[in-house]
Amino acid sequence: MSRAAYDELIRFITESSLLASAASILQVDGETVMPRRGARRRSQQLALLARLRHETFTHPRVGELIAECEADPLMDRAPQSDPAANVRVLRREYDLATRQPAALVAEIARVGGMAAHEWAQARRENDFARFEPWLAQMVALLREKAACIGWDEVRGEPWDALAVEHEPGMTARQIEAVFTPLRKPLGELLDRAEPHRPKIRDRLSAIVLPIEQQDAFTYRVAEAVGFDFTRGRIARGEHPACYGWDANDVRMITRYRRTMLLDTLSSLLHEVGHGLYDQGLPARHFGTPLGRGASLAVHESQSRLWECHVGRSRAFWEWCTPVLRECFGEAVAGLTGEEIFRAANRVHRDCIRTEASEVTYDLHILLRFDLERAMLSGSLNTSDLPTAWNERSETLLGVQPPDDRRGCLQDIHWAEGLFGYFPTYTLGNLYAAQLFAAARRAMPDLDDSIARGEFTSLRDWLQKAIYREGMRYAPGELIERATGAPLSAEALLAHLQARVDTVYA
Ligand code: ZN
Repeated sequence: MSRAAYDELIRFITESSLLASAASILQVDGETVMPRRGARRRSQQLALLARLRHETFTHPRVGELIAECEADPLMDRAPQSDPAANVRVLRREYDLATRQPAALVAEIARVGGMAAHEWAQARRENDFARFEPWLAQMVALLREKAACIGWDEVRGEPWDALAVEHEPGMTARQIEAVFTPLRKPLGELLDRAEPHRPKIRDRLSAIVLPIEQQDAFTYRVAEAVGFDFTRGRIARGEHPACYGWDANDVRMITRYRRTMLLDTLSSLLHEVGHGLYDQGLPARHFGTPLGRGASLAVHESQSRLWECHVGRSRAFWEWCTPVLRECFGEAVAGLTGEEIFRAANRVHRDCIRTEASEVTYDLHILLRFDLERAMLSGSLNTSDLPTAWNERSETLLGVQPPDDRRGCLQDIHWAEGLFGYFPTYTLGNLYAAQLFAAARRAMPDLDDSIARGEFTSLRDWLQKAIYREGMRYAPGELIERATGAPLSAEALLAHLQARVDTVYA
């Protein structure tokens, strides 16, 4: 590969990533310590950085350099080599960024801002009719966007074009193939578990615990599972999140309430999962595709692996219950690990996605996937959304939301133009289950290690299988290489079935 062209390309990309990483630190600051009245200047700073980044990345010279690198025989001869992998991803991202006219991007942002505002109002007032014209306008704009990006005219649909931003290479058809086998069995698991719910007590969540002690506890858990505090920080904020542009400076945000420790711990382990991935990415590839997470869904698989497969396991609570006692003393003295393990795995029939249990969460996603796909292809009119939502909710979850506020108005995402995004959550769950099952096969004593508070072997396995590769492989290929099997619903169903069997035995 022409070394000069490749080096110049990487200089452009590094510069655009430096701008993005600076923006993310400003964002963390805004979420944690910025005084409220700093918001106006902060949004100007972020807008400027976003514009500079876009200009750097879409510079015509970048297009020329990508084309020059692509002409090199190395692209075919060694498609997984560092330069070839980087160039391949950059081509896709460059096309995505340059195929949409600036005016359309600006219009989507403008309508998204207004629609989000109207959505908040409509949700408060339970007034779908107020939001509907904005949703209709957004869908029309997104169809235009999809047409600019393009999709496979024979086998594809507009949804595919919008998914490229979130899970490159995934089409609605492929997703349907792995989602369909989930529908019935998840519903059956829910039917089986739900009536027994009153048997499960969650006393831990009711106990009031001092915030300082919660802080010390979560720090201890994060450190034990392997989050490196010389290369990362945890700050307090309203919205749990993880910002990880640089493997050597990963910022997590966590939230505390006076009660609900299980909830706080779940979201901490979730963000730690993202954080471990970010810290495990090769720092020498900073900012280039090889130094970034493989995709949104693969990133989500890492957070869900630690949150659900580790953090809600019996083995984890064997280790964690004594830690809990050390940190909180008398307040938690009467709780056993077994009781907390069961409480952490409660299953309930719910109509709100963000309050869903592990068994129902994916049903919420299937519902959104069906409906956004139908709206984009034109087979569902936005004015018919509430009826379609309620019908689907009944079929999938066995419950109808009492009103639109708790039905089709519950999420902000569609107002902001985020279509093609929700399925990354379920894909993340599928990847996580498949990866954890493979890790267990590779390390038959994994549960014993976790029960001893020994997490290094799992982290090392993930480092080799996932972290170190960055974006070298497409998500599906990465998972197949790591687990020895193509993506399927099997591992997730087996995991959930086993959990329900154990907890409700
Ligand atoms: Zn996440």
